[in-house]
Amino acid sequence: MRFDILTLFPNLFESYLSDSILKRALDQELIDVKFHNIRDYSSDKHHKVDDTPYGGGAGMVMACQPLFDCIKDVKKQNSGPVIFLTPQGERFTQNKANNLAANNKEIILLCGRYEGIDQRVRDQLIDQEISIGDYVLTGGELPAMILIDSIARQIPGVLGNEDSQGEDSFSEKFAGKKEYPHYTKPAEYEGHKVPDVLLSGNHAEIEKWREERLK
Ligand code: SAM
Repeated sequence: MRFDILTLFPNLFESYLSDSILKRALDQELIDVKFHNIRDYSSDKHHKVDDTPYGGGAGMVMACQPLFDCIKDVKKQNSGPVIFLTPQGERFTQNKANNLAANNKEIILLCGRYEGIDQRVRDQLIDQEISIGDYVLTGGELPAMILIDSIARQIPGVLGNEDSQGEDSFSEKFAGKKEYPHYTKPAEYEGHKVPDVLLSGNHAEIEKWREERLK
């Protein structure tokens, strides 16, 4: 799976991608993440990428020219959907992560900043708009990283244990519900005990106990 990230702040992604599961996925070439700094596409002599909003109001709006040029250029290298991260988008869910992973080999993610982007970019060049929840962040970089993480872990081989992805919250195995509580050794910690049933060795009873705790 190839992700192309369009952002003003590519460095923000560095630490998350340079450790743990996603690092391994990159090293094993199970995923590829390319960055495109929108500022590099600005034709302004000061590399300006934003301007004041028509109609007045607070803040700045990311302007058409750098975004049109950047998106058109990246589309030559990546034939997947162009997804704009925005609070006005459709709410991101496990189902959406599954569908994006199943139906695409390439995805382009556009991260907004400031008040957002000129509507004409959205009208002309964006295929999907996704929100990660009903709150406002300073930029689309964290939402893009969330999409990469949740989509990447659907790709066979990305998780160490192939089975573990099928046994998470929202999976078919749990009928779309959220997972039961986990415990590990020791059986008693500072007087807090692990439920007896989990130590019983009775698999049918353990399954029943877990099923009753799915939410
Ligand atoms: N003026 C916008 C509004 O009221 O909806 C918020 C702009 S926000 C400060 C800057 C950028 O952060 C957005 O263009 C978007 O790319 C990203 N962003 C912020 N919150 C987000 C969310 N909940 N989901 C996805 N992207 C978000």
